[in-house]
Amino acid sequence: MPPEHKCRRKQVDRYFVVTGEKRILRYTYTVMKHLWLFPLCWLMGCQAPTTGQEESNTQEPPGTPIAKIDIHAHYRADRDYLVELLDSFNLKPLLVDVARQDSSIWMENLSGLKQVYQKYPQYFYCASFGAAGIDQPGFADNVISRLQEEIDQGARMVKVWKNFGMIFKDQSGAYVHIDDERLQPIWDFLVEKNIPVLSHIGEPLQAWRPLEDDNPHANYYRNHPEYHAYHHPEIPSWDTIQQARNNWLARNPQLMVVGAHNGSMSHDVDLMAQRLDEFPNFYVEPAARFGDLARQEADKVRAFLIKYQDRFLYGTDLGTSTPQSEMDPVEFLRERQGIVYMMDMHWRYLSGKGPLDFHRSLQGNSYPTRGLELPDSVLSKIYYKNAAKLLKL
Ligand SMILES: [Zn+2]
Repeated sequence: MPPEHKCRRKQVDRYFVVTGEKRILRYTYTVMKHLWLFPLCWLMGCQAPTTGQEESNTQEPPGTPIAKIDIHAHYRADRDYLVELLDSFNLKPLLVDVARQDSSIWMENLSGLKQVYQKYPQYFYCASFGAAGIDQPGFADNVISRLQEEIDQGARMVKVWKNFGMIFKDQSGAYVHIDDERLQPIWDFLVEKNIPVLSHIGEPLQAWRPLEDDNPHANYYRNHPEYHAYHHPEIPSWDTIQQARNNWLARNPQLMVVGAHNGSMSHDVDLMAQRLDEFPNFYVEPAARFGDLARQEADKVRAFLIKYQDRFLYGTDLGTSTPQSEMDPVEFLRERQGIVYMMDMHWRYLSGKGPLDFHRSLQGNSYPTRGLELPDSVLSKIYYKNAAKLLKL
């Protein structure tokens, strides 16, 4: 089944009717199997927050949902519900590896991610690499031969993580930035192979600020103080890391780069626009940063998305990590509910109309905004076509 774009208003084809029946049967079985859990879950208070009666925009209209690619997902533990759930959104994820600086964590995560990809080859896979060993001879050649194997196994993109610029140091004690010339052979190789990069370089500007209530990332930095640069004066500044990213983009105009998390510029769509104008090889995706957009004026964000409709991709940062067998029933239900809740929230924000309390997560804080009412032609680019182009579908 080619993953071509399907307009949600068009009639479903026979493929979807047949698989739809199977899906309903399988889903009914799953629901029956876990039926006893629902009163428990309710008692535990894990029902989704309601968003108020004033909001008219809820889910996608009936019929086949618009085709979607999540360009930033981390499903590295299989779930009974995974395919049914993602199919119900007509969504295929890019399963993104992250080359953590701790190689044992990296390899464990990668093994889970690869198992999911092997089981669901209809999904897409994104490899990764880090700067460990950058001083050693043959570093770039070794990375390239590993990436070639990953490409042979289906990798369609390569991710670089924020440990460039914030964690990795070379033998001289200097931070290794993304524009380090020792990495250049790797970029040349990716250009030759026509493989784009998903680049999570830097952090939101708020990482360099104290954790006040209006810091939308306060919870994350409470849980991950090692990345809260405000308390780590040794970490290079936000500007230094951004500048390294800009140097890298300028030096590699043939390299397609998707700036994850809005290119770490989520606080200001004007700044994102400047960088997109400056670097024609640069794209952005809002994984885990929709809330930052929702805090800005809706008209301004809408105009930005319409103007850069060919450069903005849908990404969520949603994923799974704990093996299903180790999860308690409430945790399991809550995880599933959280994924559905966020994908609905994104849809309502991008396509809906009228007031909306944008919740950053199932239990997270919210920002009052409104649905952006993006036209169908823009939604289909953001949700599918732009990613399909980069993934060469
Ligand atoms: Zn991520």
